[in-house]
Amino acid sequence: MVSVAIDGPAGAGKSTLARRLAAELGYIYVDTGAMYRAIGLYALRAGKDPKDNAAVDALLPEIELRLASIAGEQHIYLKDEDVSTAIRTEAAGMAASAVGANPAVRAFLLDLQRSMAKKQDVLMDGRDIGTVVLPVRWPIEIVHSLAQVPSASIFFKNALTNATPSEPFGNPTP
Ligand code: C5P
Repeated sequence: MVSVAIDGPAGAGKSTLARRLAAELGYIYVDTGAMYRAIGLYALRAGKDPKDNAAVDALLPEIELRLASIAGEQHIYLKDEDVSTAIRTEAAGMAASAVGANPAVRAFLLDLQRSMAKKQDVLMDGRDIGTVVLPVRWPIEIVHSLAQVPSASIFFKNALTNATPSEPFGNPTP
């Protein structure tokens, strides 16, 4: 399986780039922010304060979170409900930030994200992907350089074609 990690600061254009690359490469695009939003939304709907770690921790065993790619678009489900639109409210965004500071939520999503990456080729987008979820040995400044390179996807295709397990994106010479 190939896992491509894209992380970087908010507003850097990660998700636009990530969506395009995933479509071109035929990988599953995983927007990890949406996963935090879905948990935040779940907490709000359950009448819990997303900042209350103990209350949110108690909800985790019942949360059934699932992603699916439909016509190239990521959809996110809580049980059988497609919450892709519901998670885009300001309230859900604030709840996402609150639950993102909860270590149990991070551990829960880490497991889920890693198991997704084991089963399929993924392109994951999120602030902790390259450092925590799918650590890479040679961090590369993807977003800043690629945002300015029109042929970014060609670069990626070449990098992935030439990659070996021990040299995922080429090892910068020390
Ligand atoms: O990217 P998006 O705005 O959808 O993310 C919502 C919130 O989820 C972020 O503000 C951040 O607090 C949290 N988050 C996180 N770790 C990630 C992705 C998102 O803590 N990998």
